[in-house]
Amino acid sequence: MIPYSRQSISDDDIKAVTEALRGDFLTQGPLVPKFESEISHYCGSSYATAVNSASSALHIACLALGLGPGDYLWTSPNSFVASATCALHCGAHVDFVDIDMESFNISIEVLEAKLRWAEQRGTLPKILVPVHFAGQPCDMPAIYKLSEKYGFKIIEDASHALGSTYDDINVGSCRHSDITVFSFHPVKMITTCEGGIATTNNNEIAERMNRLRSHGITRDPLLMTSHSHNEIWNYEQIELGYNFRLSEIHAALGLNQMKSLSKFLDIRRGIAKRYDYQLGELPLITPRQRLGSQSSYHLYPILVSDEFVNNYRKKLYNFMQHVGVNVNIHYIPIHLQPYFQKIGFKVGDFPNAERYFRHTLSLPIYPDLTDESFDYIVFQLKDAFRRLQ
Ligand SMILES: *Cc1c(COP(=O)(O)O)cnc(C)c1O
Repeated sequence: MIPYSRQSISDDDIKAVTEALRGDFLTQGPLVPKFESEISHYCGSSYATAVNSASSALHIACLALGLGPGDYLWTSPNSFVASATCALHCGAHVDFVDIDMESFNISIEVLEAKLRWAEQRGTLPKILVPVHFAGQPCDMPAIYKLSEKYGFKIIEDASHALGSTYDDINVGSCRHSDITVFSFHPVKMITTCEGGIATTNNNEIAERMNRLRSHGITRDPLLMTSHSHNEIWNYEQIELGYNFRLSEIHAALGLNQMKSLSKFLDIRRGIAKRYDYQLGELPLITPRQRLGSQSSYHLYPILVSDEFVNNYRKKLYNFMQHVGVNVNIHYIPIHLQPYFQKIGFKVGDFPNAERYFRHTLSLPIYPDLTDESFDYIVFQLKDAFRRLQ
């Protein structure tokens, strides 16, 4: 079976992990801050907080920006559930902004209209989480402008977008946001097995996230409150936090994977270009690039039309699975998940995301995809179109 994505692990990665295992620390030693500076240096942010997943990073990012009961967080329905559940973990409300049918990211027009409507009702969001779907950056300058007008904070969910750029700005530099979150799950751009990171340029936010990932504990004497001068206090828990720490072993893998990132990006972009070329004649829509932006190509989602053959996407999905190509679907819109239906969202709430979901199919794209596998996928896709007509 050819997967839709998978990790790329070198002998050098294995060596780095083995060395970490022999080190003095297994959790939060020197490699975690080293990994953090590697990421912030790469992205051009001032700070980075590494944690055990992007989901955890989104959670503490929301807490660090003060999200709580009564507040609203808005995000894209065309994403993984973690983009939205971070709000619920803080006791806040979640709502969605429908996507545009060009970039499949949140639509700026819909966002603007929804902000005007929410302003009248007094339900403006405290936080917006734009998701750089498939690696294609959202229109951050436009979103940032709206945040200044309506006063919301921005957390970029860049789980797909390590290495993506727009107008020569790196995603993760937080030029147009308060915090950016990346995932290091094995299918993402680089991996730490499980892991995530939050970048920011705000020292207070960084400190708060560092504290929240480790039980809300501080070792900074200036922040300590209750110490009796007769006691020796090494640390104080000053707020409610979690154990979201990343281990030295995971950081060792991440640090070493960073050496391959530009190679990974080149390969992914090369595969995308070859798909664009090979699939050009088929009746489907290939991913488009916004002018001035460079996608990391975490995913290569195509859109197939039901006008061509009734129930075509499903037939194509089954056909490709049958010939051993594990095509995938990104995403079942979050608001259609049974849990979100239970908390009040309905079919039809975000029609573009639903339409997109019914027609999309993600083709395999990852650094270790061989030329033989690529040719096989293209051959089978073309064959499917001939047979299913
Ligand atoms: C993968 C992913 C996440 C969650 O990442 P984890 O590291 O698995 O927690 C969140 N948002 C998006 C868009 C993702 O693709």
